[in-house]
Amino acid sequence: MRILIVEDEKDLAAIIKQGLEEEGYVVDVAHDGEEGLYMAETYPIDVMVLDVMLPLMDGLTVLSNLRKKGVQTPVILLTARDALIDKIKGLDTGADDYLTKPFVFEELLARIRSLIRRKGTVKEAVIRIADLEIDTASHQVRRAGKSIALSAKEYSLLEFLAYRKGSVVSRTDIVEHIYNEDADMDSNVVDVYINYLRNKIDKEFSGKLIHTVRGAGYILKEE
Ligand code: CA
Repeated sequence: MRILIVEDEKDLAAIIKQGLEEEGYVVDVAHDGEEGLYMAETYPIDVMVLDVMLPLMDGLTVLSNLRKKGVQTPVILLTARDALIDKIKGLDTGADDYLTKPFVFEELLARIRSLIRRKGTVKEAVIRIADLEIDTASHQVRRAGKSIALSAKEYSLLEFLAYRKGSVVSRTDIVEHIYNEDADMDSNVVDVYINYLRNKIDKEFSGKLIHTVRGAGYILKEE
């Protein structure tokens, strides 16, 4: 899942980025409204965390421009304490949620997860495919009751496939959602990570769940 943070307080943006990356999210950061608008239009962002007070273009204008252009990326607005008017305007402009500064990081995480569920086709916090269980809150993965340890990148790939279970996901889709704009990688990186995942998720268990669809990509489903 790919998150865009638009926040001009660089220390705060860096702390949020680091925290989200530790949770396995892919994070892009913009430090002003114009850059944020550009990135939100250009990259396939799953959730945008958008500060209201920004240089060059304020957050509400960014949001209104995005919605006018038909970009429906879920947006969490960051508002100053007591800025009730911003909250009202924000929701009217098409924000999906807001968070008042200062906030507790865990609450941002919970709101991001909630938005991903609300906007996606998978509504449950624990995603199940056959005997595979993916707890999107704790990031614990179990198959046939056995706990499976995954790296952050492996987890983010599995979660991305799980939110789209039963649908074919292309390599391009995967790359764009599990790497940010700074990533430098060669094109077979997805296949490499799929192999890591297969070794952990499928190898020792009966019934393969990760399937290659030749010429199209991958699909997570029961056989
Ligand atoms: Ca600000």
